[in-house]
Amino acid sequence: MTETKTDGATLAPPVLILLGPPGAGKGTQARMLQKRYGLVQLSTGDLLRAAVAEGSEAGKAADKVMKSGGLVSDDIVIAILRDRLAAPDTAKGVILDGFPRTTVQAEALDDLLAESGQQIDAAISLEVDDEAMVHRIAGRYACAACGEGYHDSFKQPQVEGVCDVCGASNMKRRADDNAETVAERLAAYHRQTAPLITYYEKRGALQRIDAMGPIDEIATTVSRAVSKATKG
Ligand SMILES: [Zn+2]
Repeated sequence: MTETKTDGATLAPPVLILLGPPGAGKGTQARMLQKRYGLVQLSTGDLLRAAVAEGSEAGKAADKVMKSGGLVSDDIVIAILRDRLAAPDTAKGVILDGFPRTTVQAEALDDLLAESGQQIDAAISLEVDDEAMVHRIAGRYACAACGEGYHDSFKQPQVEGVCDVCGASNMKRRADDNAETVAERLAAYHRQTAPLITYYEKRGALQRIDAMGPIDEIATTVSRAVSKATKG
């Protein structure tokens, strides 16, 4: 056998970043990638909780800061991430969710990955139409009795105010699902993410994906982007 690798691809496990505003379906897509590619989703909150529970050195440091009501520093998060990326369950790669949030963090992450010959393979940005998103989220309501979901425009019950499934007439809306709050959440997301989008775009790692269509179609597009990025 004289087979040689000619593409120079490293065998380092893929590292993906998932970006997207609340309601864009990040969780759904992350679960799909987990199932399909064996990638492990790492969200900052989960990482911190696990490190604290484990009592690692970085976990203890994080615990101390959180108990005093402070914000865990980038250095601590990076140290926790370093430990986590060395764990055997991440051998097939990871999806980062919620980190990095700033370009300073993105640079620190690049340095960390470089230590093990890794890099960001793709920053997948789930893109939404803000106006349509406000309409979609602000129109949601549900039956208080059985939880069946309804929508002002897309799914009204047959009799107004009466649940099709259980017949109860107590519909509820989440307080933070009003148009103003949703628009504010989106604006905050764009403010915070814009520099990161630029950062990964410059590096050629950004993959913009239209997240307004059917979930299956989005999943197919995300899969294609991941396969391309990881040559898998
Ligand atoms: Zn009901």
